[in-house]
Amino acid sequence: MKIPANFAFSQNNLQDFADCPRRFELRYLQKLAWPAVRSEPYVEAERHMLLGERFHRMVEQHQSGLSVEQIEALANEPELIEWWQAYQNQFPDNLPPQRYVEQTLAAPFGGYRIVAKYDLIAIQPGERAVIVDWKTNIRKPHRTSLRNRLQTRLYPFLLVEAGHTLNGRIPFLPEQIEMVYWFTADPGNPEIFPYSAQQYDLDRSFLQGMIAEIEAASQSRFALTTDQRMCRFCNYRSLCDRGEQAASMEEDLEQDDNEAQSGFDLDFDQITEIAY
Ligand code: SF4
Repeated sequence: MKIPANFAFSQNNLQDFADCPRRFELRYLQKLAWPAVRSEPYVEAERHMLLGERFHRMVEQHQSGLSVEQIEALANEPELIEWWQAYQNQFPDNLPPQRYVEQTLAAPFGGYRIVAKYDLIAIQPGERAVIVDWKTNIRKPHRTSLRNRLQTRLYPFLLVEAGHTLNGRIPFLPEQIEMVYWFTADPGNPEIFPYSAQQYDLDRSFLQGMIAEIEAASQSRFALTTDQRMCRFCNYRSLCDRGEQAASMEEDLEQDDNEAQSGFDLDFDQITEIAY
């Protein structure tokens, strides 16, 4: 199935392709809704996800300047109160002063567009930029697994490509950028990934190669993953005849808590094009 010329590659759809090419096709090209329980017990998993979304909004509001008192008045569930206290006491406090919350950036790349929505970009204009992503997984993932996530490759790369819009029209150098993952499950130990020119070159080749691979698949076929563990978290299990048993909530919530977990991606129609 052909990739539309205006297609935008995001961490979610690239990660889906890396996990299973067929899932990428079903979800982003065919846009096939296929309701299925992703993990059990469903109600508890759903509740954790909704609490995670509310926590995201609380931090977003605080980073945007709303007072602590106004925000914490909205938190009455024990998990939210605990996460909020962890945020108050252990969120990185050495961030640059200029804050861009829920910032979307996009840039032309590989004949298409790449796009990302950042929880926070903290900038010292002309000097440094820190990408911060806060996560509510029940356990902090291993550093190697984070290193290999598409998000860790795409976000700093795109900030080099499109960050001039936030930096007086001067592009950031890779060495001026770092990416920080902060976890409610281990708030005192954020994972920090400094960026570099070498990593930027590697990421450029990697992303170009991946988009070429997706184009090639679109002209032949999108294969089903051979790693059937991926199917346990996938709503297309019954369609692909890959079993009916959903993953356990614990397994699921160890995964990334980005929008892909609920099957959503960015609304590409809402992305403001930036001037190049
Ligand atoms: S069920 Fe498995 S093979 Fe089918 S789309 Fe999902 S991950 Fe891919």
